[in-house]
Parts: sequence; structure tokens; C-alpha cells
Amino acid sequence: MNKRIVIALGGNALGNTLKDQMESVKQAAKAIVDLIEDGHEVVVSHGNGPQVGMIQMAMAEYHKANPLVPMIPLSVCVAMSQAYIGYDLQNAIREELLDRGIEKGVATVITQVRVDPLDKAFENPSKPIGYFMTKEEADLEIAKGELVKEDAGRGYRKVVASPRPVEIIEIDTVKALLDQGVVVIAGGGGGIPVMSQGHHLKGVNAVIDKDFASGVLAKAIDADYLIILTAVEKVAINYGKPDVKWLSEISLEEAKKYIEEGQFAPGSMLPKVEAAMDFAASGKNRYSLITLMEKAKEGIDGKTGTIIR
Ligand code: ADP
Ligand code: MG
Repeated sequence: MNKRIVIALGGNALGNTLKDQMESVKQAAKAIVDLIEDGHEVVVSHGNGPQVGMIQMAMAEYHKANPLVPMIPLSVCVAMSQAYIGYDLQNAIREELLDRGIEKGVATVITQVRVDPLDKAFENPSKPIGYFMTKEEADLEIAKGELVKEDAGRGYRKVVASPRPVEIIEIDTVKALLDQGVVVIAGGGGGIPVMSQGHHLKGVNAVIDKDFASGVLAKAIDADYLIILTAVEKVAINYGKPDVKWLSEISLEEAKKYIEEGQFAPGSMLPKVEAAMDFAASGKNRYSLITLMEKAKEGIDGKTGTIIR
């Protein structure tokens, strides 16, 4: 049976530099096209941590050199990162499709995601982003009204809120492209966070978690599978300990228990498991899979990875 699948690519699928990225997306494209070749409909989402950091730093340097030019807002940097990563991904996927004799359009949709201005995350911005600053640079930013915090002894960084995604603005466009058989790349970097003010969408200084945004995307397109591809083949309990246990399947009840036990690290595996649970709980035939990029096809065939059902 052909499935509708959202594939969320983690940082390891994109690398840290332009050169890394061009190499890594070739591997990602193979994994993605394996699924397309089997007849599945695919929407690709991805993270953007290093890329948005790089863009923001470049923009900050530009601003420093030309103080009359205002700083580029983070929401614009996220938009740039979507285009920059989408450009590489869509070309790599196109090339892999053609190499296998498959004629299909591939398109990146610059995607905005609505957040709730009353989201509790705005009361406690905690996500460090971008470049490291000295105390002096930090004080200048603070004087401008920016929120800056010391980050684990490494220097000062801006911190932003990480609100939950509520709704994907371009969802009908994504669906229309899917219905035309186009391979869609959407929701990159968790989406550009926006608040709606009547008809106007206002960019927000925040970063949405890409795993949560991918879950919202998967629900909205009525996907069968949410596949989160990352740097581990399976989710574990007692991760990093001698008695580590790799899990092939987790029920919603077990997942809740493991979260209470603190089995999943907050900045890395926890959002994946939470997004996976939320999607799996949202419909009868909805499954989530967490595995390595190169194992996506085996995972869908039930041979590896961790299934959350
Ligand atoms: P991504 O860029 O794909 O979002 P992250 O580094 O944020 O990747 O999250 C994946 C990482 O989570 C794994 O590489 C692993 O080091 C870490 N991790 C934390 N807790 C667990 C766990 N219980 N089981 C498996 N991996 C875990
Ligand atoms: Mg992550």
C-alpha cells in the first residue's frame, strides 16, 4: 500500500558547511527517493540550526560594518535558511529521481508557521541561537532590548523563545502540490514563526522546533507516517549507560512512562518522541518512526528503527 509520508531530516542529514551540505543531501536524497520509488508520497521537512546560525552571524557582521543598515530579523534569517537548504535538497532529489528514470517535480515551499502569542514559551525564552558574544557585545545587545544569556561558559548568546507550532499557513499549497505528484520540501527549520494580525502575518523572534513542526505538517496533510531521521538507528532507554536498551517499538503508554523517568534528553530526543507520540495518537492508522537516514526504507518495511504506535 502506498503511504503519505513526512520525512523530517535532522542536522546530520545537512552537515555544518556548504560543502558538507552538498555531500550530505546526496545521501538524504537516496533515502527519500527509495521511498518515492516504492510509490510513496513524500513531503520533506528539515532542521536548520547551523545554517540559520551562519546566516544570522553574516547578517550581524554586515550590520556591524554598516551600522546604518538595520539588523535582519531572525524570521528573515529562517526564511533564507529554508531557501538555501531547499535549493540544495530539491536539486539533489531531482538528480536522484532522474538517475532512476523517475520524472517528478520537486519544489521547496517557503513555509510560515503560526504561533500563539500567549504561548508560555514567550515568558521564558531559553533557546540559545547564533554566534557567541563578549560581555561588551552582549551589553550592547541588551541595551537594544535583546535578551542575551551566558551559555555554558562559552560566551554570551541571544536567547529566543521556542513556541509550539499551531498552524501551517501554506498548507493548502503543500496539499495542492502533493496532489499534483510533486515532491514537496516544506516547514524547514520548524517554519518561519509568525503571528497573525488580521490579514497581516508578523515575523516573530523565535525558533520553532522542527520535530514539532513536522508533526503538525504530518497531521495537516493527513499523512500515514511521520519519519524522523536522525543520528541514531533506534530510540533507547538508559541511553549512554552500560545497560542501554534499544527499542523497536514504543506504545504511547510506555513513552509516557519513559518521559516521566527522564529517558529522553530535552534538547534532542525528547521533542522527537513527543512529536512522534502526538502524531501517532492523532489517528488510527498513523505511525511514527525514528531511525537513521540510510535506514528509512528498511524502517518503513518494519525491519529497523523505533516505531511509536
Ligand atoms: P537532530 O539534528 O536529528 O534533531 P539531535 O542531536 O537533536 O538530532 O537528536 C538526536 C540525538 O539524541 C542522538 O544522536 C542521541 O545522541 C540523543 N539522544 C538523547 N537521548 C536519547 C535516547 N534515549 N535514545 C537515543 N538517542 C538519544
Ligand atoms: Mg534536534
